[in-house]
Amino acid sequence: MYSALAALLLGLTLITVVATEGTDRFGAEPASTSGRSDPDLAGTPDPPADTRRPSGRPALVDNPLYETGRLMPLPCPAPQLDVHDPASVERFLDTITDCLDDAWKRQFDEAGIPFETPKRVYWSEGGSSPCRDYPSAAGAFYCRAVKSVYIGTSDVVEKWGGNEEGAVYASLLAHEYGHHVQGEAGLLEYYHDKRAEESSRPESNEWTRKSELQANCLAGVFLGAIEVSYPLEEEDVDAVLDDAAATADRADAPDEDRTHGTAENSVLWLEHGLEQQSPGACNTWSVEDESLVQ
Ligand SMILES: [Zn+2]
Repeated sequence: MYSALAALLLGLTLITVVATEGTDRFGAEPASTSGRSDPDLAGTPDPPADTRRPSGRPALVDNPLYETGRLMPLPCPAPQLDVHDPASVERFLDTITDCLDDAWKRQFDEAGIPFETPKRVYWSEGGSSPCRDYPSAAGAFYCRAVKSVYIGTSDVVEKWGGNEEGAVYASLLAHEYGHHVQGEAGLLEYYHDKRAEESSRPESNEWTRKSELQANCLAGVFLGAIEVSYPLEEEDVDAVLDDAAATADRADAPDEDRTHGTAENSVLWLEHGLEQQSPGACNTWSVEDESLVQ
C-alpha cells in the first residue's frame, strides 16, 4: 500500500519536474537561434503552475504587474563593500539579491502571478551557462534558460574600472534581476519571438532596446524603493545615473549595434523608475513617443 502510494507520489513529482523543465526550455532559448513559430507549440496550454502567467502581446503592454503600485521592500541597509575582495563583493551581491527577492516576490503576489526567485551564480572562475560562457564581455548577464543571474565577483569590478561605488553594482544587479522580472511576468517569451521574426538587425534591435530600457527602469524602481533604508545619498544616485549613461549605446554607434538605447534614454528610464518606484512606470512597450526608446 505504502509503496503504491510512494510510486504514485513519485510519478506526480516526475510529471511536475518535466513540466517545469519544459517550460524553462521553452521560455529560454536564446533569441538568436529561436525561430519558434511552430503553431502547434503556440496552441499548447501552459502547465498548471503557469496558468496565471501573462502571455502574448498583453504581457508586454498590459501586464498585471503594471497595476501593482509602488514596490514595498523590507529595509535593505547596504553591507560593507571592498571591491578588491571578491568574497566581500559576493556578500554584497547576496544581500542585495535577498532584498530583490523579497521586494519582487511581494509585487508578484500582489499581481497574482507566480514568482520563483532566480538562482545566483556569482563566479570567481570561468564556467559555462546555456546562454554563454563566462567570463563574458558583459561581466554580468541573465540567462532565462536556467533562470539565473550571473555576475563575476572580480570581473565585474575590473570591467567597471575598479569603481568603488557600491550603488553602481547594486544597480547593475537590479538591472539583470529586471530581466528575471520580465521573464516571470511572461514578457520575455513573446518579446523573443517577435524579435526573432524581424528580418534585419536594426529592426530586431528596436525590440532589444525596449527590453533593456525596461530593465533599467525596473532597476530604478527597486533602487528608489530602497533609497531611504540603503541609504542612497545624492552622490550615489548621481553615480548610478552616470553609469547608465556610460553603459548606453555610443553616440556614433551604427543601427546594427544599438541595443541599449541612447545615453539620454538609458538615464531617463532609470530615473523614471527611481522617481515612480512602480513597475507600471516601466512600460517601454507602448510609449506614445518612440524617440524615448531609441
Ligand atoms: Zn540588460
